[in-house]
Amino acid sequence: MASADSFILTYHSLDESGSVISVTPQLFRRQMAVLNASGRKVVPLELITVTPNAAAITFDDGYENFFEQALPVLDDFGFPSTVFAVTRLCGQRSAWAGSGPGKPLMDWSQLRQLWSHRVSVGAHTATHADLRKLAPEAAAGELDESRCEIEQRTGRKVRAFAYPYGVADAQVRQLAGERFDWCCSVELDFVRAGADPAFLPRLDMYYFQAAARFESLVAGKAEQYVAARRSLRRIRAMIPFARF
Ligand SMILES: [Zn+2]
Repeated sequence: MASADSFILTYHSLDESGSVISVTPQLFRRQMAVLNASGRKVVPLELITVTPNAAAITFDDGYENFFEQALPVLDDFGFPSTVFAVTRLCGQRSAWAGSGPGKPLMDWSQLRQLWSHRVSVGAHTATHADLRKLAPEAAAGELDESRCEIEQRTGRKVRAFAYPYGVADAQVRQLAGERFDWCCSVELDFVRAGADPAFLPRLDMYYFQAAARFESLVAGKAEQYVAARRSLRRIRAMIPFARF
């Protein structure tokens, strides 16, 4: 059964900076080629919980380099994907706790063009707020504002969401689950049968930069590695320092 597990890949920025949220454009193209050669099905996020042995591809924050670096590669392989946009910052630079010096984010004209490339735009709140730190009404406001703004500006229904920093408590999960059909966390795991659509696990590509790691993942042989990284992350999460 292990080999039938599906997974969601998480990318942020495609650039050469070497930051924890960056993968180089060259590595991204190589990974997509490996995924393509593996024969594993690449499905839209909307189908990941009902498709065994599949992969879905997601990009958090909506960096402009998605448009320049990722889109042509995804088009070449015909892979669908989902981009999670921070709606009040579209066309500006990332500027939230932990974002460092900031990187340019796609504007609305770019986001509108994505739909014709099999890229759906999901919500990532209005300001990239840690929703756990907000009163319930304010958290709901972040969710509603981001969904409505994308729907109004692109004319498409928004059904997917990614938690900023991947974090949510029970209340935040409930608020998001009421509003979106698929909510992505950064819990490092495969999507198994019965996965909670209000808190879907994903695999951050930070952990798969070594060629052999990514190859073993798409071959369905990364269970042990993912379990080990997950334990380490849980321990580290108890220590207060910057996480992305
Ligand atoms: Zn984010």
